[in-house]
Amino acid sequence: MRTCYDSKSMSYEVLARKYRPTNFEEVIGQDHIVKALVNGINAEKMHQAYIFAGTRGIGKTTLARILAKCMNCESDTNPTSRPCNKCSNTIEISSGRSVDFLEIDAASNTQVDKIRDLIETVDYKPAKGRFKIYLIDEVHMLSTASFNALLKTLEEPPAHVIFIFATTNPEKIPKTVQSRCLQLNLKTVNDEELFDHFKKILKKEEIKFDDESVRLIVNFSNGSVRDGLTLLDQAIAYGNGELLENEIKSLLGTIDDTLLIELIEYITSGDGKKVFDVLSKIEELTPEYDVILKDLISILHKISLEQVLSNSENKNIKSLANKIDKEFCQLLYEISMNAYGKFSVHPNPKESLEICLLRMLAFNPLLKLSDSSKPIKEKNIVEKKLLKKK
Ligand SMILES: [Zn+2]
Repeated sequence: MRTCYDSKSMSYEVLARKYRPTNFEEVIGQDHIVKALVNGINAEKMHQAYIFAGTRGIGKTTLARILAKCMNCESDTNPTSRPCNKCSNTIEISSGRSVDFLEIDAASNTQVDKIRDLIETVDYKPAKGRFKIYLIDEVHMLSTASFNALLKTLEEPPAHVIFIFATTNPEKIPKTVQSRCLQLNLKTVNDEELFDHFKKILKKEEIKFDDESVRLIVNFSNGSVRDGLTLLDQAIAYGNGELLENEIKSLLGTIDDTLLIELIEYITSGDGKKVFDVLSKIEELTPEYDVILKDLISILHKISLEQVLSNSENKNIKSLANKIDKEFCQLLYEISMNAYGKFSVHPNPKESLEICLLRMLAFNPLLKLSDSSKPIKEKNIVEKKLLKKK
């Protein structure tokens, strides 16, 4: 992997680490949460237990660290919403060495004993800072007994303690615990924000890129800055310090949308032979079949939206939205989602995509109409022929 060399130490740092936000101003896409926390700190009205909810890679731990730094920064007599990142407390929190900021992974500490040990430390005053901050990651993994043990502390926490519960599954936290916390829901970052963020970083790193390449990375980031930056690292390594659209496509195992558009077009017109001709073309590009399925789902999604909202700027999507029957489009979506859901258990990735396409053809209302005059047996033969063809 290509690495970003720091001129002073010549040590390398991956982008996700190098550009990890060190204060609230650097956090992107979570304005509502940052605002709530900053207001709380400035008004000196902090809750003692927070739930940070949101999908993985979205910045829950990063926000927890920034909050811990705010509470224990030594630059002011009170907690500050702008930690200095220079005092020993903030430096120690950033590097994971602070004794007053305790990170626990609930997934690997599910036993009630572990939580009891932790709760025993709650009463002790912080060693250096004003507050002792406990970050419990994946808190929903705790056992009922652990939650019960925790609940007693949450009912009357010592004034110097703040709990931050990070979770991808807030609904699995018992209601009794939830009701004692302020829940903040982190959002996935929207594509435009990611796009701007990645471009800024690429400029800083002096890496050549074009917008299309960055778009591809954004599409594959699923709203996660961390996932996006990891991909960016790989893409930069792959392109030897430059972002090249074709290299990124092959890295991501994706292909040009035009082939997938063609595929949907032939499925719509019920032309099985042409569908499999296009599939052979796709195979020549040695793609990742699950990525192809994912792309197919995404295109069908865009078509469905276009049919209701007329919001697409892509002429191919517009034309397909006009051609496909609305209900059939929904059915295609279901079929591809079903195939994608079962993809990991299918013994053969290629066959999984093929059977998905065959199903799409089999349920085409046009084919049904033209076949209705034929006896059912004959119809089966048509489908069997298609199966043989591959
Ligand atoms: Zn400080």
